[in-house]
Amino acid sequence: MASLIPGQLTPIGDHAWRVLARNPGMMTGPGTNSYLFGRDSLTVIDPGPEDQEHLQALLQAARTLDKPITQVIVTHTHRDHSPGALALVAATGARCLGPSVPDDGLQDESWNADRLLGEGDTVDCGGVSLTAIETPGHVGNHLCYLSEQGLLFTGDHLIQGSTVVIAPPSGSMQAYFASLRKLQNRGITLMAPGHGDVISQPEDTLSQTLAHRQKREDKVVDCLTATAQPLATLVTAVYDDVPVFLHGVAQLSLSAHLIKLAAEGKASEATGGWALP
Ligand SMILES: [Zn+2]
Repeated sequence: MASLIPGQLTPIGDHAWRVLARNPGMMTGPGTNSYLFGRDSLTVIDPGPEDQEHLQALLQAARTLDKPITQVIVTHTHRDHSPGALALVAATGARCLGPSVPDDGLQDESWNADRLLGEGDTVDCGGVSLTAIETPGHVGNHLCYLSEQGLLFTGDHLIQGSTVVIAPPSGSMQAYFASLRKLQNRGITLMAPGHGDVISQPEDTLSQTLAHRQKREDKVVDCLTATAQPLATLVTAVYDDVPVFLHGVAQLSLSAHLIKLAAEGKASEATGGWALP
């Protein structure tokens, strides 16, 4: 973890470097990771929040690496990942590639891709390439990016040191499970997450995350009764292993589990909350 120092340029793999932004917090862990990727030029993956110091750190990183920043790519448009694009584009003339913005009131509305990316689209990053993989779940417009060497930029699909929040309606637990399975057995050798250090055991992390989510979902079913319970009550039972100050955030993922369970006929929404069907 020694390398998780804000502003420090850290090599993480072939043609790949990390610069941590200065926005640590409950939702961001040590802060947002911005990555620089490319051989002859640099693509910035997730420029992070709007922050002058972080912008200067990214520009300094490019000078240190002696390559121009020509592209900005984002994994999704939450406000800790994409707003830094505007100032970075103004400083470098880079073009923006990535998803469109879902209309759920939780997004960075300033994001505007010059080229929209979707499943299987490849992006040339100065002689090396990335392939976009649609991974909805955390949010509906989430993309991961896979290099030819098996390095996966995971954004908030998988982060190190914590589970991610699934906030409906754009976030979907059904989609999240499917997007985790989608990444299994496709030659990923290293994951570069949006928050935390690199993940060096990708397949283990994928199967553990799937198991963890399934266990949580089983617990949701166990806690449901014939009488409807409000989310605020259910969350204390389902997340009794999680500190109380995180229960507000956990309610978002809990509602995502319940929506999935309702679609599968295992839960029902009733007056006053959620119950067994
Ligand atoms: Zn996010």
